[in-house]
Amino acid sequence: MEKILLLAHTESDGTLAKAALEALTAAVGLGGELTVGLVGADAASAACAANRIAGCGAARFLAVSGEAFAQPRYATDAAAAEALSRASGATVILAPATSRWSRALPGVAFRLGGQVDTHATGVAGEGGAPAVSRWFYRQRMEAVLTRSRRPWAILLDGGCWAAWSGPAGTASVESIAVEAPPTRTTVAGIQAPKADEQTIRPDARLLFVAGAGWTKKQADGAVHTDEADSLIRGFLRAAQASLGSSKSLVDLSGEGQAVLQFMTHLNQVGQTGATPRHPKGLSTCCHGEEPHVVGWRFINQRRAINLDPNCGWARGKADVLYVADAFEVMRQVNALLGAKA
Ligand SMILES: Cc1cc2nc3c(=O)[nH]c(=O)nc-3n(C[C@H](O)[C@H](O)[C@H](O)COP(=O)(O)OP(=O)(O)OC[C@H]3O[C@@H](n4cnc5c(N)ncnc54)[C@H](O)[C@@H]3O)c2cc1C
Repeated sequence: MEKILLLAHTESDGTLAKAALEALTAAVGLGGELTVGLVGADAASAACAANRIAGCGAARFLAVSGEAFAQPRYATDAAAAEALSRASGATVILAPATSRWSRALPGVAFRLGGQVDTHATGVAGEGGAPAVSRWFYRQRMEAVLTRSRRPWAILLDGGCWAAWSGPAGTASVESIAVEAPPTRTTVAGIQAPKADEQTIRPDARLLFVAGAGWTKKQADGAVHTDEADSLIRGFLRAAQASLGSSKSLVDLSGEGQAVLQFMTHLNQVGQTGATPRHPKGLSTCCHGEEPHVVGWRFINQRRAINLDPNCGWARGKADVLYVADAFEVMRQVNALLGAKA
C-alpha cells in the first residue's frame, strides 16, 4: 500500500485554504495510508488546522512550525516539505498547486531522488497507487500517467475536487523539528491591490471576457474607451465576475493605443494565456478565434455578444450568441444590476 503525504500551509487563523481542502479530498480518495503534513507559523495554528480535518482518516498529522516557515520562500518551504516527506516515509506526496508548493516541490522531489508531476487534474488509484490525469498541448489532449519511481510528488490543480468538508475532532499532532536554512530573502511586507480592485477571481461563478472591440471605432466613427472602462469595471464590481481578455486587447498597450488601464497579460485567456475554470463565461467584443477559445475549455456555459453574426462564436463555440452592440447590452445589464442592488 502506498504511503501518502498531503502537504498544506496553515493560514494565520488556523484554517486551511480551499486549495488545501480540495487536495485533501483527492488524497483521501486515493485510499492509501494517509499522513497530513502541515507547515505554518506556530504549533497552535497547526493544532487548530489538524482538529478541523481530524475526521479525514489520516493515520498521522505532522507539523513543521516556526516564524521562518510562515513566509513564502523557496528555501524554507522546501526544507519543511523535505523534512515532512522523510518523517512520513511517503511514497506519494500530494500538494495543492499554490504558488508556494509549485515553486518548492520540484526541488524537494529532486532532493528525495523522486519525480514530480504538475497540473494534475485527477488522481485515481487503488491502495493509493495513483494514475494521474493531466492535460497537454494547451489543454487539447488529456493523458493518464503512472510512474514506478518513488517518491512521486504531484501538484494538484485547483477547482478539480470539492473542498473536503468532513467532521472536525481532536487530532494528535507530531511536531517535526527543522532548523530553518540560511536565507537571503527577507519578506518586508505584502503589497496587494484592494480586494475589490482585484480582477482575477478564480472562484467567481462568471468569467467576463473583454476583446479588442471595446477599443475599436464604433458606429459613430469614434472610440469610446472611457465608457468601455467604466462599463466593464461597473459590471465586474456588481457581478463579482473574473476578468479575462483576448490577446489582441492586452497587446494593444504595448503599441501605445488607447487601452483599458486595468488589463494586463495576466488576464489573457487562450492558447498563449490562461485556461480558467468557471461555471459560466460571457465574451464581449471578442471575435472568438480558435487560439482564444481554446482557453475556454473548462467554461461550462458560454455566451458571447458580438456585432458580427459570422464571428467565431457563431461556429459552434458558444451556447448562445447575442448579435448586439456590447456597449448597449452592458449599459442595460449594469442598470438592471444597479436596480437589484
Ligand atoms: C500562436 C498564436 C497564439 C495566440 N494566442 C492567443 C491567446 O492566448 N489568446 C487570445 O485571445 N488570442 C490569441 N491569439 C490571437 C487570436 O488569433 C486573435 O487574434 C485574438 O484572439 C483576437 O482578439 P479579439 O477577438 O479581441 O479582436 P478582434 O479580432 O479585433 O475582434 C474584435 C471583435 O469585436 C467585435 N466588436 C466590435 N465592436 C463591438 C461592439 N460594440 N459590440 C459587440 N462586438 C463588437 C467585432 O465584431 C470583432 O469580432 C493567438 C494567435 C496566434 C497566432
